[in-house]
Amino acid sequence: MSVRSGRMDTVTRAVLFRAACPDCRGRFELASDAIRLAIGATDRTTFYSFTCPDCGTAVRKPAGERIVALLTGGGVRTLRLYSTV
Ligand SMILES: [Zn+2]
Repeated sequence: MSVRSGRMDTVTRAVLFRAACPDCRGRFELASDAIRLAIGATDRTTFYSFTCPDCGTAVRKPAGERIVALLTGGGVRTLRLYSTV
């Protein structure tokens, strides 16, 4: 029996995002699964976060519309902080 789902995207695309750490000033590239995006009701509560691979600091930065589009398009896990009824 051959199981092959044509709907499944089995191609692993390595999407890397450039990020910088405000703490150690390190610059690095992060895979999409290393970043979390939290979308709030307003721009002020919308941010993305990641852990610096160099110093281990939890970095949280505000995410504008452009960044949100970039991150979600790259497969970053998105958390919605407000409920849509
Ligand atoms: Zn750092």
